Amino acid sequence: MSTRIDQFSPETGDLNAWIVGDDEEVIVIDPGSDAAGLLDAVGDREVLAVICTHGHADHVAAALEVAERDEAPVALHPRDRSLWREAHPDEDADIEMEDGGVFEVADVALEVIHAPGHTAGSVCLYCEDLGAVFTGHVLVAEGAAAQDGEFPDFARQLNAIGENLLTLPSDTRVLPGHGPETTIATAEKQFDSWIAAGPVLGD
Ligand SMILES: [Zn+2]
Ligand SMILES: [Zn+2]
Repeated sequence: MSTRIDQFSPETGDLNAWIVGDDEEVIVIDPGSDAAGLLDAVGDREVLAVICTHGHADHVAAALEVAERDEAPVALHPRDRSLWREAHPDEDADIEMEDGGVFEVADVALEVIHAPGHTAGSVCLYCEDLGAVFTGHVLVAEGAAAQDGEFPDFARQLNAIGENLLTLPSDTRVLPGHGPETTIATAEKQFDSWIAAGPVLGD
């Protein structure tokens, strides 16, 4: 299988943008804020879609600019529309994602998993074919991810991790929006301690 996952990290900030595809076409997950750098990494491959795991500006700032080059649609869960508007007051995303939705690129599929908590419209993208799940801010290596030192709904976020992510095959790679990757098996071992610790900040 020539389909692969490339990580792109802008020089400023610590965001992980993900590029999934082959030599012909890609889907971009969480473009971040560096459109030029990201498009450089994409090269001459066609961008089929730009998927935002949630509406926080550090993830969506460059979404329209990245999508524009190949007239690709931008996908966002509708419950994060008001957050999206903080970065893009005049334009909406093109695709309203819902749980169970599927995107196809090259010879793989990405399934939308609605995982609210960090934001109401947070989603993860599960790629069974590549054994990976893109978790945005739902789950990072240290646990549930906070935003600006806060957990908008910690209990729901933990619930979403437990019910929607830890049920994936244990060797699945967890590719988060920030920081190093982990696996479902590792997250599963830590999960009880995250619940016991409550909403404390990992930093
Ligand atoms: Zn966030
Ligand atoms: Zn972020």
